[in-house]
Amino acid sequence: MPATPPHAPDPKSVNVNVTAGTGVDIEWSDGHRSIYTFQFLRDACPCALCDEERHNHGRPPGEGPKSKAGDLPMFRPAVKPTLAEPVGRYALRFTWNDGHMHGIYSWDYLRDVCPCQECRVRRESENVTANKRG
Ligand SMILES: [Zn+2]
Ligand SMILES: [Zn+2]
Repeated sequence: MPATPPHAPDPKSVNVNVTAGTGVDIEWSDGHRSIYTFQFLRDACPCALCDEERHNHGRPPGEGPKSKAGDLPMFRPAVKPTLAEPVGRYALRFTWNDGHMHGIYSWDYLRDVCPCQECRVRRESENVTANKRG
C-alpha cells in the first residue's frame, strides 16, 4: 500500500483573491489544485477557539454552524478577509471582516481540508479506517 507522504506538498502558486472576494486558489507542486471560498476558510479557521467550537458541535473544518430545525436560515454577511499575509514560508494568515484573526493556515492544513471531491472521498475513507481502529 502506498504510504501517505509525511507532509503535504508545497504550493506551486497561491492566489488570494481578496479584491474579487472569491477565495483562494492553490496549485500544489504535485499538480493538485485546491479552490477555497473565503466562507469555507473562515469556517475552517484552525485557531484553538474555532477548533474547539467545531469539536463541540461535531462540525468538520469548513462547515458553517447549522441553524436549528424550525429556525429561519441564519443571516450571515459575506465573509472575506480585510488582510491576507504570508507567515514565513509555510502558512497564510487572514484578518477577517468580522474581526477574527487568530488562525494560521499552514499549507499542510490547507491541503488537509481541500474541499474538492477527490479529497473529500479520501478523507471519508480515512475516517472509516480511523473509526474501525478506535
Ligand atoms: Zn478562529
Ligand atoms: Zn483536493
